[in-house]
Amino acid sequence: MSLGPATAFIYTPRYLEFDYGPGHPLRNRRLELTYDLISASGLLALPSARCLAPEPATDEELLLFVQPDYLTMLKAADAGQASATAFRYGLGTGDNPIVPGIYGWSALVAGASLLATRLVESGEVGRAFNISGGLHHAGPAKASGFCYINDAALIIADLCRRGHRVAYVDIDVHHGDGVQWAFYDTDQVLTLSIHESGSTLFPGTGFVHELGEGKGEGYSVNVPLPSTADDEIFLWGFNEVIPPLVEAFRPDILVTQLGIDTHRTDPLSHIGISLTAFAQAVRSLKGLCPRWIALGGGGYDLTNVARAWTAAWAIMNDREPPAVLPEPFLARHRGNGFSDGAFMDGPAVINGPTKGHAWKAVRSEVERLKRMVFPRHGI
Ligand SMILES: [Zn+2]
Repeated sequence: MSLGPATAFIYTPRYLEFDYGPGHPLRNRRLELTYDLISASGLLALPSARCLAPEPATDEELLLFVQPDYLTMLKAADAGQASATAFRYGLGTGDNPIVPGIYGWSALVAGASLLATRLVESGEVGRAFNISGGLHHAGPAKASGFCYINDAALIIADLCRRGHRVAYVDIDVHHGDGVQWAFYDTDQVLTLSIHESGSTLFPGTGFVHELGEGKGEGYSVNVPLPSTADDEIFLWGFNEVIPPLVEAFRPDILVTQLGIDTHRTDPLSHIGISLTAFAQAVRSLKGLCPRWIALGGGGYDLTNVARAWTAAWAIMNDREPPAVLPEPFLARHRGNGFSDGAFMDGPAVINGPTKGHAWKAVRSEVERLKRMVFPRHGI
């Protein structure tokens, strides 16, 4: 059996020192569950795989994307000294609460994505996965949608200044708005986001007509899906648009955001796919570029987050996830919603008139997108 490319999994138990507060849907416990499941599945002990702990990003590194006044505000918020103007930066809302440790946590996530970037850029590994990253909604001076510092935009900005061409693929159920706007006017970064339509879901953007501007026209690509999308609709939209465009763009490095809030059990979205369809998309991403930085993202059903990202890590290592949840893992986590049974789930497929409407909607969006974008890429 071939060893496959060298890979790195970025993780530290320090992630668990931070909590968004009771009642907030984003739980760092999901990161621990994922680490545990990956570990119990034998996927950290592979000869080609390494597990590395990140350090927080420095201010100098964060300023590659973040505005200085926002960084100052975030530090003050962390220390419990947020001023009345914090709300202008998106801080202090239900989504983006001001909680102790928020700056340190955000810097640690960014540091983890920067570590993944250094490993892949230097060629030490071909593929790296930071499950804590993918905080794709934050702007340079704004917290948004549970995201305070946009680690995805930060690492892409870092790669750009060293001349790399980067393709960013975002399969989170929400539009990857923060990354799109960060690179809206450049042809050095191709951003692609497939998500539930902004007409039914936060952040209300990510429509086909958001194409980029100036030199960046045609380099911002959105596949909005109807709220009833299932495995077939999701994978069809994905396959029609993402592989052909990434292949035509020929990036030096691929950055992906692997949110699993698309899953049918996720409480924050309407569309519903299976882990099997998610893994199919990840397999397809693997073939698009030899240098690949994968980030986490949304995911609010903790048991399926752990399953999905374990499957993604298996695929990054040219393996398949185990057929059933490993017994030692179950012994530890039966009380956390895990029960015996298959690791992956069955297909999520709807039928009847709803499906007909969903097909019509996705076909019309994809046809429009192909007309507007594909010719700019010679396809
Ligand atoms: Zn999301």
